[in-house]
Amino acid sequence: MTQHYDLICLGGGSGGIAAANRASEHGAKCAIIEEHRLGGTCVNVGCIPKKIMWNASSIAETLQDANDYGFGEIQPQLNWEKLVTDREDYIVTLNQAYGRILDKNKVDVIPGKGRFVDRNTIEVGGLQYSADHVIIATGSSPIWPQIPGAEFGLDSNGFFALKQQPKKVAIVGAGYVALELASVLNGLGSETHLIIRKEKPLKAFDPTIINGLVELISSQGMHIHNWCEISKLEKRNGKITAYAGVQVLFDDLDCVIWAIGRKPKTHDLNLDIAGVTLNDKGYVSVDAYQNTSTAGIYAVGDITGHFELTPVAIAAGRKLSMRLFAGKKDSKLDYSNIPTVVFTHPPIGAIGMTEPEAVEKYGKEAIKIYESRFTPLFHALTKHKPKTTMKLICAGKEEKVVGCHILGPGADEILQGFGVAIKMGATKADFDNCVAIHPSSAEELVTMR
Ligand code: FAD
Ligand code: NDP
Repeated sequence: MTQHYDLICLGGGSGGIAAANRASEHGAKCAIIEEHRLGGTCVNVGCIPKKIMWNASSIAETLQDANDYGFGEIQPQLNWEKLVTDREDYIVTLNQAYGRILDKNKVDVIPGKGRFVDRNTIEVGGLQYSADHVIIATGSSPIWPQIPGAEFGLDSNGFFALKQQPKKVAIVGAGYVALELASVLNGLGSETHLIIRKEKPLKAFDPTIINGLVELISSQGMHIHNWCEISKLEKRNGKITAYAGVQVLFDDLDCVIWAIGRKPKTHDLNLDIAGVTLNDKGYVSVDAYQNTSTAGIYAVGDITGHFELTPVAIAAGRKLSMRLFAGKKDSKLDYSNIPTVVFTHPPIGAIGMTEPEAVEKYGKEAIKIYESRFTPLFHALTKHKPKTTMKLICAGKEEKVVGCHILGPGADEILQGFGVAIKMGATKADFDNCVAIHPSSAEELVTMR
């Protein structure tokens, strides 16, 4: 017999869990179908383990400065195995916590791989489940290059499974994952080579910030190989040889990490049977309300390709459930001005337009740029003096702040509050009218001239 629900979420990651919990709070009978562990990419092989590794790398960085602050020589030894074991134990507590909350909300968790058998029925392990509403929230997976020996490398999932710290590592890619994993490994002492096929990484970010980042990570000893593409890998005696064209680029790598992007998990879902269409990049097509091409089927999160970030998947899922089950007919996520952080060392925080985007939209004459580059007070006593960069992009006579970009310690925490102001339409005058917090780095954002 087919079990019937008001809502089935296909995928128990950030988007699916958020949507199901919110719907159940409004009385809907819900189920989540999940083939792996609850929490999805973010909890198991994304944000959370990444941030724990970033924290470890931040501690290593601070310890390097301790001597300059009058502490005796500190030569800490990282126990990689303990770090990874403790991290994974913590993640199990999160998996369990998600299970408890779903249980409390009376959301059924159906383990296994789901696929459509018609527009409102999903089969899992030979059993069928139907629903008035189905949300596709199956996320994305890493892309692997089609080159000989690619299998000797790892993807980001493989990075999180590493039992030992690699001594020498090449990370291939130019996006968030490449830069974050390269920063972690470099900070923890691995000889780290970042292989990018263009001149600079993180092409979607403001050029001033990227120039500052490249300068900083190079000064930290990370090797950046630009205009470089790996053509082949070979493995001998536990070491990997990487070729660029016919040249041997390295012959002694412990590890190669592919971080060249992600692709939507649409395969095996039988989306054609459900009548759900994909866009030209292979993501599920949705309108502003997360509706797919089939009535009663929706999609949220990475599978839609719109800002592949956990809070976006969560917000889209919750807004959708409010529309479907709480009578909020106009409930939808506003995808403008979404703040984002790249957890490099130091982190980048960004919201709104980059300078080239603002020039294109408003014209050069209609924008005003405020920039500040300074050594944070923390580094007053340290031998190395990494520069923080901040940039505000303002448009029109009223100088509305249309972009805010930060590279420096604390950028991740600073940005959230400024994000609220920018989302509310703050102008440069509003920023200036807020009295500074002294001494801090953030005060630069309200004192720029
Ligand atoms: P997911 O969280 O991937 O969930 C999809 C779920 O569906 C998975 O659990 C999967 O097992 C399940 N599934 C798939 N197919 C089926 C099927 N047929 N049947 C049953 N279950 C299925 N974002 C941030 O905001 N901040 C960060 O710091 C950050 N760091 C990241 C670091 C890394 C290394 C990576 C890879 C990503 C990071 N992200 C970060 C992005 C973030 O993880 C994703 O945007 C987010 O997880 C998307 O949520 P989702 O619900 O769309 O998909
Ligand atoms: P991204 O899309 O961010 O970056 C991948 C980059 O790799 C491309 O932009 C491209 O840059 C480069 N690339 C693509 N193909 C190749 C190739 N064959 N060889 C070499 N380089 C290649 O993907 P990620 O996997 O890094 O991240 C996916 C998404 O996950 C992010 O966009 C983000 O939304 C999310 N995420 C968020 C994080 C956070 O919030 N802190 C952390 C991690 C992920 P180019 O064209 O310049 O060469």
